[in-house]
Amino acid sequence: MTGKVLIVTGGSRGIGAATCRRAAADGWDVVVNYAGNAAAAEAVANDVRAAGRRAITVQGDMANEEDINRLFATTEAELGPIAGIVCNAGVTGTITRVENMTTEAMRHVMDVNVLGVMIANREAVKRLSTKRGGSGGAIVNLSSIAPRIGSPNEFVHYAASKGAVDAWTLGLAREVAGDGIRVNAVAPGMVDTDIHASAGAPDRSARLGPTVPIGRSATPEEIAEAVVWLLSDAASYCTSTILNVNGGR
Ligand code: NAP
Repeated sequence: MTGKVLIVTGGSRGIGAATCRRAAADGWDVVVNYAGNAAAAEAVANDVRAAGRRAITVQGDMANEEDINRLFATTEAELGPIAGIVCNAGVTGTITRVENMTTEAMRHVMDVNVLGVMIANREAVKRLSTKRGGSGGAIVNLSSIAPRIGSPNEFVHYAASKGAVDAWTLGLAREVAGDGIRVNAVAPGMVDTDIHASAGAPDRSARLGPTVPIGRSATPEEIAEAVVWLLSDAASYCTSTILNVNGGR
């Protein structure tokens, strides 16, 4: 039995991987995009298949327009038209003060977190819009608590990139609300994933978890619940929402 087709960018690890697994439980066939970790992506795809859904893995750098186009083309060729996309792939860059940031590091964060999301959202809209012959669908972008706190002394460029995601989500949602497309974002606080080690602080989640009002970091699964709910028909009246899932932070 085939389900509705969902692309999850950065689906190989962390929140993206949890989203792929949770989406499969909700009846989605899943495209697991990844940047470099093919083994992790294949493990997630196997879990989706074990849940009785179709799954493929597609390598692709979400900062690269050609790769994004290839992700959509491969999806359509192998699984058929999409009904949803989760633009989850994201990077913080290495923790550092602004005066020490290289332009290259700032550009990379903006390319992955902002331009990549914009391009992937645009390509999804072209395919989903009922005004263009599509069947409608749902887009969920991963934002963060960062635009509200600014992330000083850590990654201000990352906070700025997620602020852009929030504004984009709001505007696009209103633009395509009449096209059968809902566009929302989930804004997590501290989540226990590899992203902190990639930023250069492997202990960050354990160290800062106790400072969150709820007393701990989130699991990726707790964020995936919100993402998959926003994709679902249960969220049929939700669009332009930034859903905070942050333990009160
Ligand atoms: P993560 O554990 O570091 O995993 C990142 C995922 O994104 C991996 O699957 C990775 O693929 C993929 N990826 C990275 N760069 C990519 C690129 N250029 N193209 C395609 N895929 C790429 O991250 P996470 O913590 O789950 O974060 C997921 C999202 O949630 C991000 O947008 C992040 O900003 C947001 N978020 C996270 C937290 C948190 O505390 N963790 C809080 C707020 C918001 P490979 O496995 O192939 O490397």
